[in-house]
Amino acid sequence: MSDIIRSSSSKGWPYECFDTQILRAEPSLIRFEEASSSRPQLPSIVPASESDRSDLFASTQRSLNIAATELRNGNVVAFPTETVYGLGADATNALAVSKIYRAKGRPSDNPLIVHISDTSMLDELVEKSDVSPKESNISAAYQCLIDAFWPGSLTLLFPVRRLHPSSKDKGKQRAVLPDIVTSGLQTVGLRMPSHPLARSLIAQVGRPIAAPSSNASGRPSPTTAQHVFYDLGGPLDADLIKGERSETNGGINGNALQTPRGRIRYILDGGPCYVGLESTVIDGITDPGEIRILRPGGVTVEEISFALASRNLLVDENGENHADSTGKVRVRVYGKDMERSAAQEANPTTPGMKYKHYSPNARVVLVDVGSSSARANGAVCTLKDMLQAELGPLAETAGAEAAHIGFMAPAGSNLAQAVASLASRSASESEGASRVKKFSMHLDGNHARTAALFLYDLGAPESPGEGAQRLFAGLRVLDEAPQKCQVIFVETMKADRIGLAIMNRLEKAASERISIDL
Ligand code: AMP
Ligand code: MG
Repeated sequence: MSDIIRSSSSKGWPYECFDTQILRAEPSLIRFEEASSSRPQLPSIVPASESDRSDLFASTQRSLNIAATELRNGNVVAFPTETVYGLGADATNALAVSKIYRAKGRPSDNPLIVHISDTSMLDELVEKSDVSPKESNISAAYQCLIDAFWPGSLTLLFPVRRLHPSSKDKGKQRAVLPDIVTSGLQTVGLRMPSHPLARSLIAQVGRPIAAPSSNASGRPSPTTAQHVFYDLGGPLDADLIKGERSETNGGINGNALQTPRGRIRYILDGGPCYVGLESTVIDGITDPGEIRILRPGGVTVEEISFALASRNLLVDENGENHADSTGKVRVRVYGKDMERSAAQEANPTTPGMKYKHYSPNARVVLVDVGSSSARANGAVCTLKDMLQAELGPLAETAGAEAAHIGFMAPAGSNLAQAVASLASRSASESEGASRVKKFSMHLDGNHARTAALFLYDLGAPESPGEGAQRLFAGLRVLDEAPQKCQVIFVETMKADRIGLAIMNRLEKAASERISIDL
């Protein structure tokens, strides 16, 4: 793999448009088994049980074959992972990777995470140690995190392997991956996904797969094949042309303007993603005494600290001041116990800082319900006040149509109950699209008018993982027809465990934060 940088002839979207096809595949029917010394013929894709040697297994294999061939041919394919849907390309092929950036409208200085199917790919991609060149640069802390969380939603930054210069390199060392993957950095972010379709696909291609989320840049990450289809299969471009959306990204050219077709040929559909938020990104190489969490994600800070502590790799904050030669580390979270820096945030390597992220067309407003800190500084209003304040400006923008206001809250939360009781006083409630309840209500005052309220259920409050899994889907459902909310109010939650990652995404999606007292 290492010394071939591959090429292909086509340039992808917007030079080409596609009739995007959804390839159905059933993840529960396949099991991924990694090669081992006792079973060197693996990895292989096997039916999960004998009785499942069905048509569906055959069609899953067919879908995987089509997707793998497309990737081997230097094109992009959207595929499910446990976190979100990715837009993959052969990471060793610069032209293939350039198609990812074009299809998404992604800024070219934002490096990509490279996905691997097994540990042999890790050895190929990571620079060997200076001290002992046969060994990879994997610290005790990294080995612990790999053992605990791979395959899974954890990305680790590694020094990228350099190749011995060939005569045409004029003595200059080249990285094993093209610069377009790493933005020319000396590091590469690697992840081994746990989703059986993702892992099987990568293994079948036999090459590492560079893959960011498969949304149009700036929009909420996709957690179903239908979300990907909306962004990259044509409908988003059609809406942009009709003027129904305000995004300017994506660079639709004249060609696409006349016939808004797909930006990619295939979407491998494995159903909804089960984590729903992107991976946790860790930098354990800038300071070997620290595990720096650059982006909170599917694996929580608490889980990371627990795994390190259980191997005695965590610095004892009371006893020891410095990481010592035993490889102990401190866990630090960017923006929480690592100071934020403007210089760092101008840099795309601090995930999600430099660019607009996760934003639907609607305005997103975070709502702290009954927070005591807000009460102390007096900036608190009631739900009714909040809606009243909202309806004035909406009356101007929504014209004669009813204002559409979205809410996202855990089932039965104070905010969910308040919305239901406020609206039921004046109107009836009916079921809308999946997980959305629709209410209508009338507010008096200077801007007397009817508002349609849409409440999206973020799941049981005691299982915030459900909220994580539904978060991006909720933003999309409330943003798109028939809801088409002009504003979406999202109830905040405690920023710990998976709540840290949820709040991180919400803070980037939102333009405001308010406090209400119920
Ligand atoms: P995503 O937008 O989900 O693909 O996230 C990828 C993020 O991971 C990037 O925006 C970077 O912030 C981070 N990342 C990926 N590769 C590297 C790298 N080589 N060095 C530093 N950060 C990286
Ligand atoms: Mg993304």
